[in-house]
Amino acid sequence: MKQSDMERMFGASIVIGMARRTGAAWSFRAKVRNLWCACCARTFPNGVYRDEAGLHHCPYGDCDALEADAQPWPAIRFTRPNYPEHPTLGIRYPLPEADLSVTGRP
Ligand SMILES: [Zn+2]
Repeated sequence: MKQSDMERMFGASIVIGMARRTGAAWSFRAKVRNLWCACCARTFPNGVYRDEAGLHHCPYGDCDALEADAQPWPAIRFTRPNYPEHPTLGIRYPLPEADLSVTGRP
């Protein structure tokens, strides 16, 4: 997907940076392809963010969460195996509040 297509989809201008290694100690140390934002429950490619005053935000223009708070998609699928391996941009994949602790720190 081209950057301009992504920007149309996210509704904001974005930066395509380096994919990062994702946090949680127990497994998902690799550079996963997709991250999931706990605030808007949407996914985006690892490395993509929206720059706002030097802070890396969730790329979706209507979401103020920090990119660093996004979680690896495999961690979300761990609790929701019915979710697709390759999530669709712009689709919300909600988790019940109680499940968030499962995907957080061990
Ligand atoms: Zn978001």
